[in-house]
Amino acid sequence: MKELPDILWLEEIRKEDIAAVGGKGASLGEMAVIGLPVPRAFVVTSHAFRRFLIETGLEDSIFENFENLNVEDNHALEQAAEKAKEAVLRVSMPSSLQENIRLAYQRMDEGGLIVAVRSSATAEDLPDASFAGQQETYLNIKGTDNLLKAIQMCWASLYGARAIYYRAKQGFDDRGVNIAVVVQQLVNSEKAGVMFTTHPVTGEPLTIIEGSWGLGESVVSGSVSPDKYVFDQRTGKVVDRLIANKKIEIIAEGTHGTKLVPVPSDRQDLQVLSDEEVAKLAMFGKIAENHYGIPQDVEWSIVGSSFFILQSRPITTIKSKGTETAAKAGSAGVILVQGQGASPGIATGAVVIVRDAKDTSEVKEGDIMVTKMTNPDMVPAMRKVAAIVTDEGGMTCHAAIVSRELGTPAVVGTKKATAVLKPGQLVTVDGEKGFVYEGALQTARPAEKSQAAVVASPIITATSVKVNVSIPEAAARAAATGADGVGLLRIEHLILGLSKTPGWFITNHKEEDFVQELYDGIKVVLDAFYGKTVWVRTLDAPTDEFRNMAGGENEPIEHNPMLGWRGIRRDLQSPDQFRLQVEAFKRLWEQGYDNLGVMFPMVSHPDQFVAAKKMMQGWGVDVDHATLGVMVEIPSSAILIEDFIKAGIRFASFGTNDLIQYTLAIDRNNENVADMYQPKHPAVLRLIHDTIQVCRKHGVECSICGQAGSEPAMVEWLVEHGITSVSANIDAIAKIRETVARTEQRIILDSARARNA
Ligand code: PEP
Ligand code: MG
Repeated sequence: MKELPDILWLEEIRKEDIAAVGGKGASLGEMAVIGLPVPRAFVVTSHAFRRFLIETGLEDSIFENFENLNVEDNHALEQAAEKAKEAVLRVSMPSSLQENIRLAYQRMDEGGLIVAVRSSATAEDLPDASFAGQQETYLNIKGTDNLLKAIQMCWASLYGARAIYYRAKQGFDDRGVNIAVVVQQLVNSEKAGVMFTTHPVTGEPLTIIEGSWGLGESVVSGSVSPDKYVFDQRTGKVVDRLIANKKIEIIAEGTHGTKLVPVPSDRQDLQVLSDEEVAKLAMFGKIAENHYGIPQDVEWSIVGSSFFILQSRPITTIKSKGTETAAKAGSAGVILVQGQGASPGIATGAVVIVRDAKDTSEVKEGDIMVTKMTNPDMVPAMRKVAAIVTDEGGMTCHAAIVSRELGTPAVVGTKKATAVLKPGQLVTVDGEKGFVYEGALQTARPAEKSQAAVVASPIITATSVKVNVSIPEAAARAAATGADGVGLLRIEHLILGLSKTPGWFITNHKEEDFVQELYDGIKVVLDAFYGKTVWVRTLDAPTDEFRNMAGGENEPIEHNPMLGWRGIRRDLQSPDQFRLQVEAFKRLWEQGYDNLGVMFPMVSHPDQFVAAKKMMQGWGVDVDHATLGVMVEIPSSAILIEDFIKAGIRFASFGTNDLIQYTLAIDRNNENVADMYQPKHPAVLRLIHDTIQVCRKHGVECSICGQAGSEPAMVEWLVEHGITSVSANIDAIAKIRETVARTEQRIILDSARARNA
């Protein structure tokens, strides 16, 4: 029988070697074979690991730990895991194995090369058993001793508590689970990032590339706002670019680990990639996509003129028939909890329960975040997770809004996810249907997925189709939809992300920081929508959302913050807070951003609009030429719309999230009454219809930016009733544009038929 090798080089690896090299190793091997510039690497095979267990005698002793182990008993589980890990780390590796690794390392570059050491676990009947990154990765390792130690640490991570728990739940026998370790040249990237080889939401042939300085970790983890480039594969041109202010980078530290450092000010605003580099990366992306037959999510890096592709895996957010869950197809999908599907997409991972922002340090890339309700201070962790599940909330809650913009599947309002789901439990979240299933469910058949991703050429509609944006990092994705502008930019998310209330900035004399933060965030969106209108809404955070932040202790405690001190009411009574926002708008107007319009939330009487306008005028705004409008989200503003028009509004936009709750007395975030929250309630429709007619009579733009504007049936009704524009969520733009076009064509056809009848 052929002896199984301890070491396999990437070039030697074929797909079939998955049992020897794990999912990660096999995928790198395959990438190298199709000609992608993968950094040099060898794999310490699962055979080497077995040999280690056998020759050190661990194979017998280690698994005794797990016999009769009740994995639900946390204490026992932790103890068994600790003992097993210690045992793996304590023994020394067989010397012939050490020698094989040393020789391979030396062959890479005389043994002085800095490498990344990554676990690649395998189970007999599952190609990649490294669910949601349970096994470790060690970056920036140099020297044979450090390398051997890192490999042994990877092996030990196979017996982490979470890993044992998963395997027990998934019915894997610990004895049958193996681990391979990839030892790969660590590319000390000058610039790095990620790429989608096809537009992740619309499926258009656009390559979306994000990049920043240093190691790609800063982009992947979301700790920096990267540059964004959109490359149109049809024309071979960069059609959109967004150059961000890149404040930090992650670089290698010494011979171990990485560190986060500030980017020198002269590099912060520099463009990371030239058009030629974007085109070359897009080409590599296409090679990967063509090979796998499905759009890819690729990690890349560049050093000097050398390009590297570090990872390529299927994009999971493109919606299609192919991404239906297996459960629907009749497989054994046990539904653990159910709520509202708030952000489409399907993801599998380990549950991490987040009770408050402190717990977010536990959150790892690819986890499923389960929480009562997300808070703005959880946004950095929300960027990392594969899906979000909440107990509370509805389609318009914080978790729903932010998840949609991040493109992360989310199920909200399950009532009991934090009680039912267990830390470490493997689950599959279907953000469209609102189900959370037990275990990893089969998702898509690749061929169907890529077919369904194809979108027809852009559709022109008479009714403008705009997009909602809440976080500037979503601006490029939003712009890539081809939307006709931004119908709602919620700026409170810019402030909430700073973890300090506006009052804190004022009390601590940091007004300039506040203005700058707003200015920078809004500018990102204005740049992404150059030449298209962007309606920026003034602050509208309820007091309870400010409570956890610095300065939050001064927020009034309100019984019902939804009906409380928010929106224009608060700004009119807090001139300092209002003035700082206006200062940011003024600076942008002075910079020539004529596409900026300002929208006031929660207005109930035209006097409030007049008062706001007067204050702005007092601060030097040319209010007669500025585009100022209001949200219609309180029934009184719908009833008084003609008076608002007389007071000089240039546009009105339905905030149906609030308009529905205030018309029907249904708390929009209360899952107990969620089924009574009816966008098409006749009273709501009457208010909307009447408002549209008055706006039309006066030639004032009438729009919608509430969640109902992302629902095709409602949009059909709105177009029939004469709305001027609709503003939808990023993920809904394609279907809303199609709905608008179809409705408009039907109206024309009906009227032509009526004429000919
Ligand atoms: C609305 O009320 O419909 C709206 C868009 O505003 P928000 O969801 O931020 O209250
Ligand atoms: Mg509102």
